[in-house]
Amino acid sequence: PAYSKDDVRRIVKDENVQFLRLMFTDLYGTIKNVEVPVSQLEKLLDNKLMFDGSSIDGFVRIEESDMWLYPDLSTWTIFPWGSEHGKIAGVVCEVYNADRTPFMGDPRNNLIRVLDEMKELGFTDFNIGTEPEFFLFKLDPTTGEPSLKLNDQGSYFDLAPVDLGENCRREIVLELERLGFDVEASHHEVAPGQHEVDFKYADALHAADNIQLFKLVVRTVARKHGLHATFMPKPLSSINGSGMHVNMSLFANNENVFYDEKTESGLSENAMFFLGGLLKHARNFTAITNPIVNSYKRLVPGYEAPVYVAWSGHNRSPLVRVPIARGVSTRLELRSVDPTANPYLAIAAILEAGLDGLRNKIEAPKPVDRNIYVMSEEERLQNEIVDLPSTLHNALKALKEDDVILASMGEHLAASFLEGKRIEWDAYRQDVSQWERKQYLEQY
Ligand code: ADP
Ligand code: GLU
Ligand code: MG
Ligand code: MG
Repeated sequence: PAYSKDDVRRIVKDENVQFLRLMFTDLYGTIKNVEVPVSQLEKLLDNKLMFDGSSIDGFVRIEESDMWLYPDLSTWTIFPWGSEHGKIAGVVCEVYNADRTPFMGDPRNNLIRVLDEMKELGFTDFNIGTEPEFFLFKLDPTTGEPSLKLNDQGSYFDLAPVDLGENCRREIVLELERLGFDVEASHHEVAPGQHEVDFKYADALHAADNIQLFKLVVRTVARKHGLHATFMPKPLSSINGSGMHVNMSLFANNENVFYDEKTESGLSENAMFFLGGLLKHARNFTAITNPIVNSYKRLVPGYEAPVYVAWSGHNRSPLVRVPIARGVSTRLELRSVDPTANPYLAIAAILEAGLDGLRNKIEAPKPVDRNIYVMSEEERLQNEIVDLPSTLHNALKALKEDDVILASMGEHLAASFLEGKRIEWDAYRQDVSQWERKQYLEQY
């Protein structure tokens, strides 16, 4: 909602708000917050609150560590879990440099920049609806640490009593609704202990804010139920991993421009070019949509996660599916993204890829309505179907070669991202795993 400063002042009084939680997101997608007492409200509303950004991942050098926080009042919310001293309100902030220019290492500012490019092309909104999945693991009762014990043995759309996660999930939904989320569905996923909660799409910026808040709520509520919620893409090797499908559409003045009633498919030329760009850059933005070493253990055949770059109007296995809904719900569903992606960076990369398709009229390849997983390598080659990167290392190599996707991050973020991820990959590849010892120690 569009709150004015006076609205905020009134709510603070009426609701007895005592603390303000100022939120932003670091390079790796972790939500950060600075909490200040309500006495700081006027300073906050006047963009006069400073914080020290030097210890935030991917932020700034020591010599310029003081930064401003500018609140986006449209994100103002009151947390349902107050303290005994009064309520806690939250607001998402944009980070500004000491000289009051937008700080380009802030992923949210960066998304605003890419959205401005979209607006220059005549579109008004990039709408995003996500389907985040997560696992619930039991907390060890003696240590309080997360265990690898799942909290149920349920499966897709199972009902209680198999689905012990149900009470926890129900409370998650209630808390989300209290925070203003429009929850469309929540259900048990395919794997034991795995759940999904879907909420209504929003414009890109608020959709990214919502994902961050969503994860916070899921983790907080799970704790109360003696559970640990994880968004790690592949916590257990032999069952499905957790994805976060991203549904997207472009709007111009409340009209979905992906829809065209006059074409046979109902998809507009804009939708097809956007799709062309999306597929062209898909390999190269994978490092951003699937940013951790473990992400690539999910992108393997056999677990409902995509492995190949292709699209379809029917089949659920390809990277991009076009759900059958038309009219205002006409959309593309990108299925590779996982919930460890920094939503601001991922959405900016996806949008930049699509805009490249629109600007350069990139033709989408023909749809693939067959099961790609039963095709031979040769058949895939004939159909021009390439694979997604198989490791973080390969994904980073692909990213480095794509100027369009690098531009979606801007210089500051791209440099810190590539450097941070190189270090992560190096640490991983130097680790000798249990699998290797089991496989080789005795054999050689
Ligand atoms: P699935 O068919 O993959 O199970 P769901 O119904 O679970 O998909 O989720 C669909 C998501 O797409 C929801 O978040 C919904 O709000 C969103 N959505 C619907 N219409 C649009 C649209 N025009 N643009 C973007 N997202 C949309
Ligand atoms: N869990 C699957 C994945 O890894 C997705 C299942 C689904 O279609 O919802 O992407
Ligand atoms: Mg799902
Ligand atoms: Mg889906």
